[in-house]
Amino acid sequence: MSILVLGGAGYIGSHTVDRLVENGADVMVVDNLSTGHEAAISLKAAFYQGDVRDKAFMNRVFEKEQITGVIHFAAFSVVPESMTKPLKYFNNNTVGMITLLEVMQAHDVKQIVFSSTASTYGTPEKIPVAETDLQKPINPYGASKLMMEEIMHWADVAYGIKFIALRYFNVAGAKLDGSIGEDHGPETHLIPIIMQVAQGKRAKLQIFGDDYQTPDGTNVRDYVHVVDLADAHIKAVQYLADGNQSDAFNLGSSTGFSNQEILTAAREVTGQPIKAVIGPRRPGDPDTLVASSNKARQVLGWLPNYDDVHEIIQSAWNWTQKHPDGFEA
Ligand code: UDP
Repeated sequence: MSILVLGGAGYIGSHTVDRLVENGADVMVVDNLSTGHEAAISLKAAFYQGDVRDKAFMNRVFEKEQITGVIHFAAFSVVPESMTKPLKYFNNNTVGMITLLEVMQAHDVKQIVFSSTASTYGTPEKIPVAETDLQKPINPYGASKLMMEEIMHWADVAYGIKFIALRYFNVAGAKLDGSIGEDHGPETHLIPIIMQVAQGKRAKLQIFGDDYQTPDGTNVRDYVHVVDLADAHIKAVQYLADGNQSDAFNLGSSTGFSNQEILTAAREVTGQPIKAVIGPRRPGDPDTLVASSNKARQVLGWLPNYDDVHEIIQSAWNWTQKHPDGFEA
């Protein structure tokens, strides 16, 4: 197995590279380091710094390496930013996918595992969300990823490029030894922001809205451990290598936790008071997002190991304590 990981210096990408290497795969990473960290990339992977949209660069990588499959993480993923900078998202995410598929087609590489998102469903019609439910994004990030899924579908019809779209719910946590973890600048995600408050780097958490249609009024999300998520990518790569057809799978823990519940769990795990205030709603947030991930369990044989948010937060806290300044330290 010789896998090219696009966006392998990012949060989920670097954990997947790490698990691929641990599973004995040959791994190549392409990343433009716009948000990723070179220090996050396993030393056992070959690293090419460049942009997925740079076709000449991508052709050089595909000519040099014997690539059997691609995992594509190289996309922007911040919902609120996408609301104010939609074209940035359509350019990097959607245009990047077109270039990638053109280069794959030219080099006869016919398998891609894609980092998709629950945001493609928009405000779900029902909870838990199943793969067959209506995809109707309510923010440009989700729209850019749905377009990428559709582009892959038509590339499969025309060229036989098989794809697996993995629709993540909320990804959190870090490798258990604390050697890699989540490090975004600026940080926008709930759990790492809570970790910054626990660490004393940020004065308080602002909970975005407490008047949603949920039991305690704060948004409910489905958290999946980043190492479990990384393992799902390896299962998906294997599934395509076994000759299976293109498909899409939700990846979540199937359990919802409200923002308030995450805060309470983080106070328990860290032993810190973690000051929090209620602020206004953030545009683009649906009330509740919880996955049915039965299909991934049944078809891919995916078995998440960490479905307790305390364990997820504990691993994030471990990473935070070992790397108080992230990868820059
Ligand atoms: N959230 C919050 N305060 C923050 C960051 C996030 O209340 O400082 C909320 C956000 O509104 C959402 C949940 O936490 O309800 C998860 O948001 P995050 O940005 O972590 O992930 P997303 O669901 O956007 O992928």
